[in-house]
Amino acid sequence: MPKFEYAPAPESRAVVSLRESYGLFINGEFSPGVDGRAFKTISPATEEVLAEVTEAGPADVDRAVTAARKAYEHTWSQLPGKERAKYLFRIARIVQEKARELAVLESLDNGKPIRESRDVDIPLVAAHFFYHAGWADKLEYAGYGPAPRALGVAGQVIPWNFPLLMLAWKIAPALACGNTVVLKPAETTPLTALAFAEICQQADLPPGVVNIVTGAGETGRALVTHPGIDKVAFTGSTEVGIQIARACAPSRKKVTLELGGKAANIVFEDAPVDQAVEGIVNGIFFNQGHVCCAGSRLLVQESVYSEVLASLRRRLATLRLGDPLDKNTDVGAINSAAQLAKIRELSEVGEAEGAQRWSPPCELPVKGFWFPPTVFTGVSQAHRIAREEIFGPVLSVLTFRTPAEAVEKANNTPYGLSAGVWTEKGSMILWMASRLRAGVVWANTFNKFDPTSPFGGYKESGYGREGGRHGLEAYFDV
Ligand code: NAD
Repeated sequence: MPKFEYAPAPESRAVVSLRESYGLFINGEFSPGVDGRAFKTISPATEEVLAEVTEAGPADVDRAVTAARKAYEHTWSQLPGKERAKYLFRIARIVQEKARELAVLESLDNGKPIRESRDVDIPLVAAHFFYHAGWADKLEYAGYGPAPRALGVAGQVIPWNFPLLMLAWKIAPALACGNTVVLKPAETTPLTALAFAEICQQADLPPGVVNIVTGAGETGRALVTHPGIDKVAFTGSTEVGIQIARACAPSRKKVTLELGGKAANIVFEDAPVDQAVEGIVNGIFFNQGHVCCAGSRLLVQESVYSEVLASLRRRLATLRLGDPLDKNTDVGAINSAAQLAKIRELSEVGEAEGAQRWSPPCELPVKGFWFPPTVFTGVSQAHRIAREEIFGPVLSVLTFRTPAEAVEKANNTPYGLSAGVWTEKGSMILWMASRLRAGVVWANTFNKFDPTSPFGGYKESGYGREGGRHGLEAYFDV
């Protein structure tokens, strides 16, 4: 098939000014850690060291929680909603002003294509702050009573797949509802959270309302188990979510967990094939498949299996993998060596269990962490690649004959975060949506996010909702 060759179109790194090292953002300023420990954050596309970041220990977490408590009691909880709204609007506008810089920084630290950080992540970050700014002075109309009370200090822990967006999902509703926060970004992607700390300074946010502590699992554990925290909000793996739920069980902390997923993307025989194929590609290859709600299980009606697969293979051959900062790139780098090892291991298990593996011809860069878009066919429900979250650019294809079989297979998972349905029939969409045990069901589209729409899971995908009116509940004492 004739194909255009694209000349490189790299976004400039010059818009980002990285410091050599970063302290912890506590009480409105950056300060060194108490025990002087630090770690490096690298670009997963090149393995180049980007900066050194402080590893917060328990004493640092304690300083941050104390600052957040003081800010809650003396400043933030005293402000009327319309004053809090002004800060949130200000933050949203600064995010928009710095959109290009933030997008480049996110792509550098995470490895995701600039096209995605520029067109999806950063605009959604601003949208979340705008949306919640709008709520801050209207909370009495949210359906949680005439004067819903904030909880106090929120301890928030986020993953590396959408670093700044997950920060926005956590911080915007917490602040709108009147809480103060201590947030820990993931250890492989701390840089945009630290840039956000600078945005808080620029917005003149009162000291202590937002505190950012960097570090890995131990820092996260110190934060969620700290007795001064009233609310724990976690997004990450089901395994760590379970540990956190256990650790918080004896306390009065309010907990919300946004965990993993193994979504079914279900294509019926009457679906427009080209659109469905775009949706399948977006469902699993967006953000290298590092998406909790990724459509990692494709269920195709048997009668259109050959047509859909042929079209999918043709489309995958046109994906461009490479430099995340190149504006033509569709598939960027895998976020870390550890994640790459996990994707490789599960893919090998897929082959060993008898599924057929296919990738388009695709040259992988020598440096950095890379995995080609991969499709497994001949997958059965019993295969590990049909049951476990791979969190990478790997699609497992299964077939079905009847709608009832599609529902049964789609729900046959410990998770329940999202699902997609492709059909021309509106009645079929409603029939399916009422039977699928998933927090979000997309119809003839996939991976669409909006701050007004609640997002969250069933079963092992966690509990609680983020976004929309429903998401506010997590930050109220109700
Ligand atoms: P992870 O659970 O290993 O880490 C998530 C965060 O928790 C990181 O900041 C990490 O440092 C911290 N952490 C690790 N151990 C901890 C502990 N014992 N106590 C407190 N904090 C701890 O997950 P990950 O590999 O970074 O992220 C990938 C996972 O996140 C996937 O399973 C994915 O499905 C899930 N995810 C879910 C959503 C959602 O909204 N449901 C969104 C994004 C990612």
